[in-house]
Amino acid sequence: MSQSFSTDVLIVGAGIAGLWLNARLRRLGFATALLDSAAIGSGQSGKSQGIIHGGTKYALQGVLTPSAQAIAAMPGRFRAALAGEGELDLRDVRVLSQAHYLWSPGSLAGNLTSFFASRAMRSRIAAVTGEALPPALQNPAFAGKVYRLDELVLDVLSLLSCLTRLSGDSLLSAQDIQPLTDENGEPCGLQLDGQALHARCIVLCAGAGNQALLERFALTQPAQQSRPLHMVLVKSAQLSPLYAHCLGAGSKPRLTITSHPLADGQWLWYLGGELAEANGVARDQAAQIHAARQELTRLLPWLNWSDAQFACLRVSRAEPAQSGLLRPDNAFLATQGRLLVGWPTKLALAPDFADRVLKHLKQMQITPSAHNPLPPLPKPPLAPPFWHGLLS
Ligand code: FAD
Repeated sequence: MSQSFSTDVLIVGAGIAGLWLNARLRRLGFATALLDSAAIGSGQSGKSQGIIHGGTKYALQGVLTPSAQAIAAMPGRFRAALAGEGELDLRDVRVLSQAHYLWSPGSLAGNLTSFFASRAMRSRIAAVTGEALPPALQNPAFAGKVYRLDELVLDVLSLLSCLTRLSGDSLLSAQDIQPLTDENGEPCGLQLDGQALHARCIVLCAGAGNQALLERFALTQPAQQSRPLHMVLVKSAQLSPLYAHCLGAGSKPRLTITSHPLADGQWLWYLGGELAEANGVARDQAAQIHAARQELTRLLPWLNWSDAQFACLRVSRAEPAQSGLLRPDNAFLATQGRLLVGWPTKLALAPDFADRVLKHLKQMQITPSAHNPLPPLPKPPLAPPFWHGLLS
């Protein structure tokens, strides 16, 4: 008969949600196992822009939306962890920028006027000019207005790598994942490549994979939604780092630019925002690159875009279903006895997601128990950077 294994909490999905939760639980003394069927960070997390939003982007309508309120505490929690003084020790994580910028090309646009109508927002941002401008905008031809937001941008690969180290020996890789149920038909663990792992609590945080996992437990709720994006990557020797939301006429950024250091010393710009949303999703790769080139030429005409290398990346945000595909406000967790399922909905909200799981463990009176050996399964590898294979 094959050996049976057990743990306190079995987490499925080694994206930011699973990794953060796992590290917190281990620090609190829980026995955990963190399972992934692919590479760590190979879902949305490794393809995210790494901005630790404090909610400012969500206040462009001039009011502090619930989104903006819930997320406001996150930059502080990340900063404490990065200093080694928070809930986790993230001192090894590379901070790409201490600030993100709001950039209004031309004169002060209408949306910024309403934005400044919010007193709470005014206190969070400061105008910058001259040498305080991000280097890419320091050009005599630049005529816009720029505001500094107190929002970090992290090197996500180093974040995932640090959290992987904090996972110790709890990481497991398996392809064939089947539910285990007790005599009452309640979920009590998973069969991983033929090996039974029982758990007092199972957390499904497998991003886009949650729905298929729920189906294996014969569950249809909570429903999942998918919001596709068509991101653009640009590489050129002339690029210097820029982390900014460029504002358009609407309440969403026209372009969100983050910059990522490449092994050859050059910078990669990763373009999201409106460019990557609905119209961008409908464009094929050639049309999307053409649209990105036009947008960059309009906004930063002093840079030479003719020798830049472009590539595209399609990726979807997996979230709990909202009416009208609206953006969810908070980390989301649904509980069905000892089976928990959720989505952080943002990288920045991973601490909030872990809080919600911890609250439920407390309600279920699950406290740390003895650490038993886990099934002898391989450890999943760390995914390569998202630009791997897309740019030379
Ligand atoms: P994922 O990162 O998708 O991880 C899920 C994991 O589950 C994967 O490793 C996958 O292999 C595994 N898995 C799937 N199915 C199974 C299965 N059956 N068995 C075992 N394992 C399985 N948020 C921010 O806060 N700031 C940003 O700047 C930002 N930028 C973004 C940019 C883009 C282009 C996108 C797409 C998202 C961005 N987000 C950002 C949102 C953020 O990336 C996501 O909310 C977050 O990464 C989701 O993390 P996750 O752990 O839930 O899922």
